Amino acid sequence: MRSLQKLPEPDILTRNKDAWTRSYAEAISSNSKAPNHWTHSEIRKQLNAETDRRCAYCDSHIANVAQAHIEHFRPRAKYPELVVAWDNLTIACPRCNNQKRDKFDEDLPFINPLHDDPTAHFIFFGDVIFPAGSNRAIHTINEIGLNNDDLVAARKRRIIGITRLVDAWRKAESVLKEGILEEIYRELHAGEHQATVKALLLTSGISLSNTRKTITVRTSTPIVSTLKPAGEFPVATS
Ligand SMILES: [Zn+2]
Repeated sequence: MRSLQKLPEPDILTRNKDAWTRSYAEAISSNSKAPNHWTHSEIRKQLNAETDRRCAYCDSHIANVAQAHIEHFRPRAKYPELVVAWDNLTIACPRCNNQKRDKFDEDLPFINPLHDDPTAHFIFFGDVIFPAGSNRAIHTINEIGLNNDDLVAARKRRIIGITRLVDAWRKAESVLKEGILEEIYRELHAGEHQATVKALLLTSGISLSNTRKTITVRTSTPIVSTLKPAGEFPVATS
């Protein structure tokens, strides 16, 4: 999971949300087929842009062959009044969507990447996500299955790829070094499981607080000497 920034509400939704909320409620109360206005192409387009087509929960890329699920953070079965509320909509992969279903507990809400800082709730270490202490984090990991076998394997693949890049960068001569650094940074921002990759790079002593084009270390120590050999990066063995 990574922090997400809500983009502006699509015009089509602003113009129709009241009517769409009413028609949904009427359909539910009359036991007729409820309209799925939240799947409107303009809404989907904006949500895809907001998430880079990555799942709001597990941060996996949603393959082009799979239709991204438009996710109701508070499930529409329990909160029909939020069925097209812009702030309640995001993108989820089929796996997380199916795992979460209509679960939602107001006393123990899932970590919301649109409002909560995931790094304050989770510890991203190697290929596993640990709770940073809150019951909400434990609940989110367990109920959405953020450490299932597929996700752990996918994070491990990312770690191996990034570790190879860092190792190549460490050994490269100056001209090539710059190019590899840019590739590392591009990978971080464009790729899935970003929090895992970010934690890995920070473990290596690389500061990522600057612009996308620049990577510097936090101390005056030459960057090469602050990097650990690839084998020292944390990769859980389970
Ligand atoms: Zn997911």
